[in-house]
Amino acid sequence: MALGRPTTVAAYLIKGKETALIDTGYASSAEIVRKDLADSGLYAIDHLLPTHVHLDHSGACGTLAAFFDTASIRVHPKGEQHLIDPTKLCEGARVIFGDNLMKAYGRPQPISASRVKVINDGEEIDLGKGMTLRSVWTPGHASHHLSYILEEIGMVFTGDAVGIRSKRFPILIPTTPPTSFNLEVALGSLQRLRQLSPKQLLTPHYGVVGSARDEIDANIRSLEVWVAKIGEMLKAGTTIDSMVALMAEEISRHLPNPMELPDFLLTSIRLSVLGVVRYLNLSDRRTRIVK
Ligand SMILES: [Zn+2]
Repeated sequence: MALGRPTTVAAYLIKGKETALIDTGYASSAEIVRKDLADSGLYAIDHLLPTHVHLDHSGACGTLAAFFDTASIRVHPKGEQHLIDPTKLCEGARVIFGDNLMKAYGRPQPISASRVKVINDGEEIDLGKGMTLRSVWTPGHASHHLSYILEEIGMVFTGDAVGIRSKRFPILIPTTPPTSFNLEVALGSLQRLRQLSPKQLLTPHYGVVGSARDEIDANIRSLEVWVAKIGEMLKAGTTIDSMVALMAEEISRHLPNPMELPDFLLTSIRLSVLGVVRYLNLSDRRTRIVK
């Protein structure tokens, strides 16, 4: 229930002897998460585990870390500094989202360096009661992105390694934002998740997916098609605004009940278009340098 909307972004609670919260939502919805936990009788969390430091995943981390003052905070090494001092992260986000959205997202609170610890690829967190979380680095959406697998059950908490798909909008929308989306790396991460043979995917946008392999395969296809289409438009000199409008129109057409897409989805599409354009321009520059 972030930004006044249900199913905006998921935070997943895992209870063994110890408790872990994978992703935390926006800074502006920290109180909703805290209250939901309290309503479930939870007044302490042992591990706060953002999959990456984008504002919808780790924004609430600082506020929750202050409230759950014994929790350890684990993050990819490239994300560590942004949790300790979110200034640079917020400046970068403001350029992309503008003042109004930044106000709605809320300001992430800094976390003392002594409480933030990196988590390496393959590192395990034993929660007790037969619940072991293992970190699986899955860069591509961002260079510092990671997922978790709950070993004993074969549940994978994907973070944004997979696209947006919800009950209301049952079509995959890739999440390929600036500044570090990379197609080859993202596809490699999806293959990596596939090789784990997960039984379920727990996605942030939004919910639990039972047919995990099919969903991963669908994500691989949709990413390839998405980047190819934007590439064609880029070559044809299409403006960013027109690309967003065309992609939104296409997504809407493929919905069971075609409709005009709401603003928040248009924001996601714009972000994903910007990320692909940046990635393609960089690849193009690299090719020209090699030539
Ligand atoms: Zn993200």
